[in-house]
Amino acid sequence: MIRLEQVSKIYAGGQPPALDDVSLVIPDGAIYGILGRSGAGKSTLIRCLNLLERPTSGRVLIDDQDITALTPRALRQQRQRSGMIFQHFNLLHSRTVADNVAVPLEIAGVKRPQRQQRVSELLELVGLSEKATAWPSQLSGGQQQRVGIARALAARPDYLLCDEATSALDSETTASVLALLQQINQQFGLTIVMITHQLEVVKSICDHAALLERGRLRESGALSTLLRQQ
Ligand code: ADP
Ligand code: ADP
Repeated sequence: MIRLEQVSKIYAGGQPPALDDVSLVIPDGAIYGILGRSGAGKSTLIRCLNLLERPTSGRVLIDDQDITALTPRALRQQRQRSGMIFQHFNLLHSRTVADNVAVPLEIAGVKRPQRQQRVSELLELVGLSEKATAWPSQLSGGQQQRVGIARALAARPDYLLCDEATSALDSETTASVLALLQQINQQFGLTIVMITHQLEVVKSICDHAALLERGRLRESGALSTLLRQQ
């Protein structure tokens, strides 16, 4: 379970807080949508979950461990528990599809034969086995995002953090990427946190959601409850 306790983030320069006293609970196995307009603080929140940013105040607890208070080594291990998916896929264009998926395994020190085995399993999972030796530039946006998903899953994370994962895709491709994420959630029981400005995305696959406005949490909870309140 991920728990934010009164998390605030103030960037240098004295603007209003990017996150202002945000508390929320993300249950294990949830598909949790974090919704808000541009500038609401969504990216800051997801970077606090992965500790790419440190909150100015407050605590981020994962399974009751305060990850804002870890040693650098423990923090690196903790980061390996989550995979990230990006709006613009962030693939390495000088590497083949298979070699992109292998990146987290190389970082984790997995030996080549096991790496190759794992990469072929992952490409099968995302339906891209026949693209293993292709270059990212030869793939459609939806296919590139599938490579991003395979890479994010490579080290068997407990959490998948998605940063506007479908915002660069057309609606048909969005639907198929969301269906894949839902399948992964059900098959592996991993928790998915999705930040998005698209209410449709939240409605189509999330079971929980939070709404951010100018750094403040307006509401949060089970989606069925939130939609009833509207
Ligand atoms: P969102 O992802 O919802 O668009 P962000 O978390 O990116 O929102 O931004 C929230 C606020 O924090 C915005 O006002 C933005 O300008 C500011 N901000 C984001 N990143 C930085 C940064 N590295 N330095 C200073 N201000 C930032
Ligand atoms: P095994 O011990 O053989 O890995 P698992 O039940 O853990 O068995 O996994 C079965 C398959 O599901 C594996 O081949 C692996 O590819 C995939 N898998 C399991 N957990 C995850 C995860 N967290 N992320 C991605 N794939 C996973």
